[in-house]
Amino acid sequence: MAETLLAVEDLKTYFYTEAGVVKAVDGVSFTLKKGETLGVVGESGSGKSITAMSILQLIASPPGRIVGGKIIFNGENLLDKSPEEIRKIRGNEIAMIFQDPMTSLNPVLTIGEQLIEVIILHQKLDKKSAAKKAVEMLSLVGIPEAEKRLKAYPHQFSGGMRQRAMIAMALSCNPKLLIADEPTTALDVTIQAQILKLMNDLKERFHTSIMMITHDLGVVAEICDDVVVMYAGRPVEYADVNTLFESPLHPYTWGLLASLPRIDDREKKRLEPIEGLPPDLVNMPPGCPFAPRCKKAMEICRVQRPEYREIKKGHLVACHLYLNMGEQ
Ligand code: ADP
Ligand code: MG
Repeated sequence: MAETLLAVEDLKTYFYTEAGVVKAVDGVSFTLKKGETLGVVGESGSGKSITAMSILQLIASPPGRIVGGKIIFNGENLLDKSPEEIRKIRGNEIAMIFQDPMTSLNPVLTIGEQLIEVIILHQKLDKKSAAKKAVEMLSLVGIPEAEKRLKAYPHQFSGGMRQRAMIAMALSCNPKLLIADEPTTALDVTIQAQILKLMNDLKERFHTSIMMITHDLGVVAEICDDVVVMYAGRPVEYADVNTLFESPLHPYTWGLLASLPRIDDREKKRLEPIEGLPPDLVNMPPGCPFAPRCKKAMEICRVQRPEYREIKKGHLVACHLYLNMGEQ
């Protein structure tokens, strides 16, 4: 069994707004093993990005605040670290790539200038060796004529190329953990497949652990080892990827899987979104947050919140349907 690199335990990140306390992340727990890829899935607004930003402590305060939990990275709780120590970890040991690379690329510097700067900083190379390394990295992420491309500005790159450049930049820090927040959402399907393949290759090559945030279970099937399904700021199911696809337990996960286009009707692209809306994170109803949308909901679901627990080995779920299963 691979060692654990990251263990998030009962993480809570709230936003204190005029409308009330938005419990964006409200008791998130999961682990990510060394060299593996964890998929974090759930509809928009389920707390995926806020979880990622909490790990890197990029939550703007006010209005946000991490109010509870632990983030154990490499055996140490990141929440006990000083801002200075966190700054060192960010970009060195943990790198993040976003849906929109323009948020992390500087528009007034060439791709080469930015990449070389990162390499000098993180790999302690002189300028000439760093420039050579930059060409290598761009080629590695599949950018043709890398040497020439180093002189281009971000706006001269296509969306897919910018995403590749950002991956090259993130990996140039040799991070132990790469957090990718919807990195392929804005790209067309062919480019998306190429980027996913690239991330898989890089994982093999550098043994980087990846936290892959996506609302797309198709992406999860392509590259993840384990998956955590989030709903309304909490995990509702966790399993290895095969178990999750073959024997999902939570009705919400069933819904997500049903909305995945099958190979045979991909042309039709027939998606069946789960009916209803997620709950208001300020005034959470008692009971299971998914109950109002759940076809299997029982009396108890509306009054008592199901505990998130291990039902079968390595398979956790928060659902009253499995009340009598697993260790009590
Ligand atoms: P997603 O799963 O789509 O990445 P997010 O983690 O971005 O979801 O957001 C989770 C919830 O937190 C959302 O309901 C969002 O409205 C809320 N949220 C995020 N940032 C703020 C903020 N600055 N103030 C208030 N609520 C916020
Ligand atoms: Mg998000």
